[in-house]
Amino acid sequence: MISKRLCIALLCVLAVVFIGYAQVSSKDKNAVSEKPATKQETTIPAAEGKDKKQEAAKPAADAKTPKQETAKPSSDGKTPRQDTAKPPTDAKPSKPALPYVIAADDFSNLQLPDTAHPVFDARMLSERISLGLPVSLPTLAPYRGPKTAYLTFDDGPDDEVTVTVLDILAENNVKATFYVTGINAATYPDTVRRMVAEGHAVGNHSYDHDYDRLYMSPDAFLYEMVQTDEILHDILGFRPLILRAPGGTFSHFTSEYEACLEENGYVEHDWNVSIADTAPGNPPAQDFIDNVIAQTADGKESAIILMHSSSGHQETAKALPEIIRVLRENGYRFGVVTPMTPQPW
Ligand SMILES: [Zn+2]
Repeated sequence: MISKRLCIALLCVLAVVFIGYAQVSSKDKNAVSEKPATKQETTIPAAEGKDKKQEAAKPAADAKTPKQETAKPSSDGKTPRQDTAKPPTDAKPSKPALPYVIAADDFSNLQLPDTAHPVFDARMLSERISLGLPVSLPTLAPYRGPKTAYLTFDDGPDDEVTVTVLDILAENNVKATFYVTGINAATYPDTVRRMVAEGHAVGNHSYDHDYDRLYMSPDAFLYEMVQTDEILHDILGFRPLILRAPGGTFSHFTSEYEACLEENGYVEHDWNVSIADTAPGNPPAQDFIDNVIAQTADGKESAIILMHSSSGHQETAKALPEIIRVLRENGYRFGVVTPMTPQPW
Protein backbone atom coordinates (compact mmCIF):
# COMPACT_ATOMS: atom_id res chain seq x y z
CA MET A 1 0.00 0.00 0.00
CA ILE A 2 2.79 2.29 0.98
CA SER A 3 4.60 1.66 -2.28
CA LYS A 4 1.38 2.32 -4.21
CA ARG A 5 0.87 5.57 -2.33
CA LEU A 6 4.49 6.46 -3.00
CA CYS A 7 4.02 5.71 -6.67
CA ILE A 8 0.89 7.88 -6.79
CA ALA A 9 2.70 10.64 -4.94
CA LEU A 10 5.62 10.41 -7.33
CA LEU A 11 3.24 10.51 -10.28
CA CYS A 12 1.58 13.56 -8.80
CA VAL A 13 4.94 15.23 -8.32
CA LEU A 14 5.93 14.39 -11.90
CA ALA A 15 2.61 15.72 -13.12
CA VAL A 16 3.12 18.98 -11.22
CA VAL A 17 6.67 19.26 -12.56
CA PHE A 18 5.45 18.62 -16.11
CA ILE A 19 2.66 21.18 -15.85
CA GLY A 20 5.11 23.69 -14.38
CA TYR A 21 7.54 23.08 -17.24
CA ALA A 22 4.79 23.46 -19.77
CA GLN A 23 3.83 26.83 -18.28
CA VAL A 24 7.42 28.02 -18.24
CA SER A 25 7.97 26.97 -21.84
CA SER A 26 4.81 28.74 -22.90
CA LYS A 27 6.09 31.87 -21.11
CA ASP A 28 9.33 31.51 -23.03
CA LYS A 29 7.34 31.36 -26.24
CA ASN A 30 5.49 34.46 -25.16
CA ALA A 31 8.79 36.05 -24.33
CA VAL A 32 10.06 35.22 -27.79
CA SER A 33 6.91 36.56 -29.28
CA GLU A 34 7.47 39.75 -27.28
CA LYS A 35 10.74 40.32 -29.04
CA PRO A 36 9.09 41.41 -32.25
CA ALA A 37 7.03 43.74 -30.10
CA THR A 38 10.24 45.37 -28.95
CA LYS A 39 11.29 45.45 -32.55
CA GLN A 40 8.07 47.18 -33.37
CA GLU A 41 8.86 49.69 -30.68
CA THR A 42 12.11 50.36 -32.44
CA THR A 43 10.33 50.76 -35.74
CA ILE A 44 10.15 54.53 -35.22
CA PRO A 45 13.89 54.95 -35.16
CA ALA A 46 14.02 52.38 -37.92
CA ALA A 47 11.65 54.53 -39.94
CA GLU A 48 13.86 57.51 -39.21
CA GLY A 49 16.71 55.40 -40.34
CA LYS A 50 14.89 54.82 -43.59
CA ASP A 51 14.48 58.54 -43.97
CA LYS A 52 18.17 58.89 -43.47
CA LYS A 53 18.71 56.22 -46.04
CA GLN A 54 16.48 58.13 -48.40
CA GLU A 55 18.42 61.28 -47.67
CA ALA A 56 21.61 59.39 -48.17
CA ALA A 57 20.17 58.08 -51.39
CA LYS A 58 20.17 61.58 -52.83
CA PRO A 59 23.94 61.96 -52.71
CA ALA A 60 24.13 58.40 -54.00
CA ALA A 61 22.03 59.52 -56.94
CA ASP A 62 24.38 62.44 -57.37
CA ALA A 63 27.30 60.11 -57.04
CA LYS A 64 25.93 58.21 -60.01
CA THR A 65 26.77 61.10 -62.25
CA PRO A 66 30.51 60.74 -61.83
CA LYS A 67 30.11 56.98 -62.03
CA GLN A 68 28.34 57.37 -65.36
CA GLU A 69 31.13 59.62 -66.48
CA THR A 70 33.74 57.13 -65.42
CA ALA A 71 31.69 54.38 -67.12
CA LYS A 72 32.18 56.02 -70.47
CA PRO A 73 35.94 55.84 -70.50
CA SER A 74 35.97 52.14 -69.75
CA SER A 75 33.91 51.54 -72.86
CA ASP A 76 36.20 53.74 -74.92
CA GLY A 77 39.30 52.28 -73.39
CA LYS A 78 41.48 55.23 -74.37
CA THR A 79 39.47 57.96 -72.76
CA PRO A 80 39.92 57.50 -69.03
CA ARG A 81 42.45 60.28 -68.82
CA GLN A 82 40.12 62.65 -70.63
CA ASP A 83 37.29 61.80 -68.28
CA THR A 84 39.41 61.93 -65.18
CA ALA A 85 40.28 65.40 -66.37
CA LYS A 86 36.60 66.31 -66.19
CA PRO A 87 36.13 65.98 -62.41
CA PRO A 88 38.56 68.82 -61.60
CA THR A 89 36.49 71.17 -63.72
CA ASP A 90 33.27 69.79 -62.24
CA ALA A 91 34.64 69.36 -58.71
CA LYS A 92 34.82 72.95 -57.44
CA PRO A 93 33.53 75.08 -60.24
CA SER A 94 31.70 77.80 -58.35
CA LYS A 95 33.84 78.20 -55.24
CA PRO A 96 35.86 81.38 -55.66
CA ALA A 97 39.16 81.46 -53.82
CA LEU A 98 39.01 83.40 -50.56
CA PRO A 99 40.44 86.90 -50.87
CA TYR A 100 42.52 86.28 -47.73
CA VAL A 101 44.77 83.67 -46.12
CA ILE A 102 43.91 82.07 -42.78
CA ALA A 103 47.03 81.19 -40.82
CA ALA A 104 47.67 77.50 -40.26
CA ASP A 105 47.71 76.36 -36.63
CA ASP A 106 51.50 76.09 -36.85
CA PHE A 107 51.85 79.36 -38.86
CA SER A 108 53.51 77.35 -41.63
CA ASN A 109 51.66 79.07 -44.50
CA LEU A 110 52.60 82.71 -43.97
CA GLN A 111 55.47 82.91 -46.45
CA LEU A 112 53.43 84.13 -49.40
CA PRO A 113 54.58 84.70 -52.98
CA ASP A 114 53.43 88.30 -52.90
CA THR A 115 51.50 90.77 -50.80
CA ALA A 116 48.25 90.55 -52.72
CA HIS A 117 46.31 88.75 -49.98
CA PRO A 118 45.77 89.74 -46.36
CA VAL A 119 46.47 87.25 -43.59
CA PHE A 120 44.28 86.52 -40.58
CA ASP A 121 44.32 84.08 -37.70
CA ALA A 122 41.16 82.17 -36.74
CA ARG A 123 42.67 81.47 -33.31
CA MET A 124 42.67 84.02 -30.54
CA LEU A 125 45.94 84.47 -28.70
CA SER A 126 44.52 82.88 -25.52
CA GLU A 127 43.24 79.93 -27.57
CA ARG A 128 46.68 79.34 -29.04
CA ILE A 129 48.22 79.39 -25.58
CA SER A 130 45.62 77.03 -24.08
CA LEU A 131 45.98 74.58 -26.99
CA GLY A 132 49.77 74.66 -26.87
CA LEU A 133 49.96 76.06 -30.43
CA PRO A 134 52.74 78.39 -31.57
CA VAL A 135 52.16 81.99 -30.55
CA SER A 136 55.14 83.83 -32.01
CA LEU A 137 55.50 83.84 -35.78
CA PRO A 138 58.24 81.96 -37.61
CA THR A 139 60.94 83.97 -39.33
CA LEU A 140 59.51 85.24 -42.60
CA ALA A 141 61.55 86.54 -45.50
CA PRO A 142 60.30 90.06 -46.21
CA TYR A 143 58.61 90.43 -49.56
CA ARG A 144 60.96 91.87 -52.16
CA GLY A 145 59.13 92.36 -55.37
CA PRO A 146 58.51 95.12 -57.87
CA LYS A 147 57.87 98.62 -56.54
CA THR A 148 54.91 98.29 -54.22
CA ALA A 149 52.74 100.93 -52.56
CA TYR A 150 50.78 100.05 -49.45
CA LEU A 151 47.89 102.43 -48.95
CA THR A 152 47.09 102.38 -45.23
CA PHE A 153 44.09 104.06 -43.62
CA ASP A 154 44.14 104.54 -39.85
CA ASP A 155 41.58 105.29 -37.14
CA GLY A 156 38.43 104.09 -38.93
CA PRO A 157 36.08 102.75 -39.76
CA ASP A 158 33.13 105.05 -40.01
CA ASP A 159 30.08 104.89 -42.26
CA GLU A 160 31.01 107.83 -44.44
CA VAL A 161 34.67 108.49 -45.26
CA THR A 162 35.71 104.84 -45.04
CA VAL A 163 32.77 103.85 -47.25
CA THR A 164 33.78 106.46 -49.85
CA VAL A 165 37.38 105.21 -49.67
CA LEU A 166 36.17 101.62 -50.23
CA ASP A 167 34.12 102.74 -53.23
CA ILE A 168 37.16 104.51 -54.76
CA LEU A 169 39.42 101.49 -54.13
CA ALA A 170 36.85 99.22 -55.79
CA GLU A 171 36.52 101.53 -58.79
CA ASN A 172 40.31 101.48 -59.21
CA ASN A 173 40.76 97.80 -58.40
CA VAL A 174 43.20 98.61 -55.60
CA LYS A 175 43.58 96.67 -52.34
CA ALA A 176 44.57 98.57 -49.20
CA THR A 177 45.07 98.14 -45.46
CA PHE A 178 42.81 99.54 -42.75
CA TYR A 179 44.19 99.86 -39.22
CA VAL A 180 40.98 100.08 -37.25
CA THR A 181 40.26 100.85 -33.61
CA GLY A 182 38.21 98.39 -31.62
CA ILE A 183 35.66 101.00 -30.63
CA ASN A 184 35.02 102.08 -34.23
CA ALA A 185 34.96 98.49 -35.51
CA ALA A 186 32.31 97.66 -32.90
CA THR A 187 30.29 100.70 -33.99
CA TYR A 188 30.57 100.01 -37.74
CA PRO A 189 30.93 96.22 -38.11
CA ASP A 190 29.39 96.19 -41.60
CA THR A 191 32.17 98.44 -42.87
CA VAL A 192 34.75 96.04 -41.41
CA ARG A 193 33.05 93.07 -43.08
CA ARG A 194 33.05 94.94 -46.38
CA MET A 195 36.79 95.61 -46.11
CA VAL A 196 37.55 91.91 -45.77
CA ALA A 197 35.00 90.80 -48.37
CA GLU A 198 36.63 93.11 -50.90
CA GLY A 199 40.14 91.79 -50.29
CA HIS A 200 41.56 94.50 -48.04
CA ALA A 201 43.71 93.90 -44.99
CA VAL A 202 42.49 94.86 -41.55
CA GLY A 203 45.01 95.66 -38.84
CA ASN A 204 44.77 96.33 -35.12
CA HIS A 205 45.06 99.98 -34.07
CA SER A 206 44.21 99.68 -30.33
CA TYR A 207 40.82 99.97 -28.70
CA ASP A 208 40.35 103.71 -28.62
CA HIS A 209 43.68 105.38 -29.42
CA ASP A 210 44.28 106.60 -25.88
CA TYR A 211 48.03 107.21 -25.69
CA ASP A 212 48.10 107.60 -21.91
CA ARG A 213 46.61 104.19 -21.29
CA LEU A 214 48.26 102.44 -24.27
CA TYR A 215 51.79 103.46 -23.49
CA MET A 216 51.72 102.85 -19.76
CA SER A 217 53.55 99.56 -20.29
CA PRO A 218 54.00 96.74 -22.83
CA ASP A 219 51.35 94.76 -20.94
CA ALA A 220 48.90 97.65 -21.18
CA PHE A 221 49.56 97.86 -24.92
CA LEU A 222 49.13 94.11 -25.35
CA TYR A 223 45.88 94.22 -23.36
CA GLU A 224 44.37 96.65 -25.89
CA MET A 225 45.57 94.58 -28.81
CA VAL A 226 43.79 91.54 -27.39
CA GLN A 227 40.71 93.61 -26.56
CA THR A 228 40.49 94.78 -30.17
CA ASP A 229 41.23 91.27 -31.47
CA GLU A 230 38.17 90.04 -29.60
CA ILE A 231 35.96 92.66 -31.25
CA LEU A 232 37.32 91.88 -34.72
CA HIS A 233 37.07 88.12 -34.14
CA ASP A 234 33.42 88.54 -33.14
CA ILE A 235 32.76 90.47 -36.36
CA LEU A 236 34.86 88.45 -38.80
CA GLY A 237 35.54 85.06 -37.22
CA PHE A 238 39.27 85.79 -37.27
CA ARG A 239 41.75 88.39 -36.08
CA PRO A 240 44.63 90.27 -37.69
CA LEU A 241 48.28 89.54 -36.97
CA ILE A 242 49.33 93.00 -38.10
CA LEU A 243 49.03 96.19 -36.11
CA ARG A 244 50.05 99.80 -36.16
CA ALA A 245 50.95 101.56 -32.94
CA PRO A 246 48.81 104.71 -32.62
CA GLY A 247 51.08 107.66 -33.32
CA GLY A 248 53.79 105.26 -34.53
CA THR A 249 56.42 103.46 -32.52
CA PHE A 250 58.86 106.39 -32.55
CA SER A 251 58.90 107.97 -29.10
CA HIS A 252 56.33 105.44 -27.88
CA PHE A 253 57.99 102.05 -28.07
CA THR A 254 60.95 100.71 -26.14
CA SER A 255 62.68 97.43 -26.87
CA GLU A 256 60.37 95.87 -24.25
CA TYR A 257 57.32 96.72 -26.38
CA GLU A 258 58.96 95.20 -29.44
CA ALA A 259 59.89 92.05 -27.53
CA CYS A 260 56.36 91.75 -26.13
CA LEU A 261 54.78 91.98 -29.58
CA GLU A 262 57.24 89.55 -31.13
CA GLU A 263 56.67 87.08 -28.33
CA ASN A 264 52.92 87.25 -28.89
CA GLY A 265 52.96 87.02 -32.69
CA TYR A 266 52.06 90.59 -33.66
CA VAL A 267 53.83 92.44 -36.46
CA GLU A 268 53.89 96.23 -36.30
CA HIS A 269 54.38 98.47 -39.34
CA ASP A 270 54.94 102.21 -39.21
CA TRP A 271 55.11 104.17 -42.49
CA ASN A 272 57.65 105.89 -44.73
CA VAL A 273 55.24 108.18 -46.58
CA SER A 274 52.68 110.40 -44.87
CA ILE A 275 50.10 112.43 -46.73
CA ALA A 276 49.87 114.53 -43.50
CA ASP A 277 46.08 114.57 -43.46
CA THR A 278 46.06 115.22 -39.70
CA ALA A 279 48.09 118.39 -40.06
CA PRO A 280 46.46 121.43 -38.47
CA GLY A 281 44.40 123.85 -40.55
CA ASN A 282 42.50 121.24 -42.60
CA PRO A 283 44.84 121.17 -45.59
CA PRO A 284 43.25 120.64 -49.00
CA ALA A 285 43.40 117.38 -50.99
CA GLN A 286 46.06 118.77 -53.34
CA ASP A 287 48.52 119.01 -50.43
CA PHE A 288 48.12 115.27 -49.80
CA ILE A 289 48.78 114.47 -53.46
CA ASP A 290 51.86 116.70 -53.45
CA ASN A 291 53.15 114.98 -50.31
CA VAL A 292 52.89 111.55 -51.94
CA ILE A 293 54.69 112.77 -55.06
CA ALA A 294 57.48 114.38 -53.01
CA GLN A 295 57.98 111.43 -50.67
CA THR A 296 58.06 108.78 -53.42
CA ALA A 297 60.27 110.82 -55.75
CA ASP A 298 63.27 108.78 -54.56
CA GLY A 299 61.62 105.73 -56.15
CA LYS A 300 61.52 103.75 -52.92
CA GLU A 301 60.77 100.08 -53.58
CA SER A 302 58.28 99.78 -50.75
CA ALA A 303 56.11 102.79 -49.93
CA ILE A 304 53.93 102.41 -46.85
CA ILE A 305 51.63 105.40 -47.04
CA LEU A 306 49.89 106.78 -43.95
CA MET A 307 46.37 108.15 -44.43
CA HIS A 308 43.24 108.36 -42.29
CA SER A 309 39.70 107.27 -43.05
CA SER A 310 37.96 108.20 -39.81
CA SER A 311 35.18 110.76 -39.62
CA GLY A 312 36.16 114.23 -40.89
CA HIS A 313 38.74 113.08 -43.46
CA GLN A 314 36.73 113.84 -46.60
CA GLU A 315 39.73 115.58 -48.17
CA THR A 316 41.68 112.33 -47.91
CA ALA A 317 38.96 110.52 -49.86
CA LYS A 318 38.93 113.41 -52.34
CA ALA A 319 42.70 113.06 -52.91
CA LEU A 320 42.66 109.27 -53.22
CA PRO A 321 41.87 108.83 -56.96
CA GLU A 322 44.74 111.13 -57.93
CA ILE A 323 47.13 109.51 -55.41
CA ILE A 324 46.37 106.12 -56.98
CA ARG A 325 46.84 107.51 -60.50
CA VAL A 326 50.16 109.17 -59.65
CA LEU A 327 51.55 106.07 -57.94
CA ARG A 328 50.59 103.90 -60.91
CA GLU A 329 52.16 106.40 -63.28
CA ASN A 330 55.37 106.14 -61.25
CA GLY A 331 55.46 102.36 -61.60
CA TYR A 332 53.91 101.24 -58.32
CA ARG A 333 51.66 98.27 -57.92
CA PHE A 334 49.51 97.98 -54.79
CA GLY A 335 49.80 95.45 -51.97
CA VAL A 336 48.18 94.82 -48.62
CA VAL A 337 50.22 94.70 -45.43
CA THR A 338 50.94 91.19 -44.14
CA PRO A 339 53.47 89.86 -41.60
CA MET A 340 55.95 89.55 -44.48
CA THR A 341 55.63 93.14 -45.67
CA PRO A 342 59.07 94.75 -45.32
CA GLN A 343 59.48 97.33 -42.59
CA PRO A 344 59.40 100.90 -43.91
CA TRP A 345 62.90 101.85 -42.76
ZN1 LIG B 1 45.85 106.44 -35.38
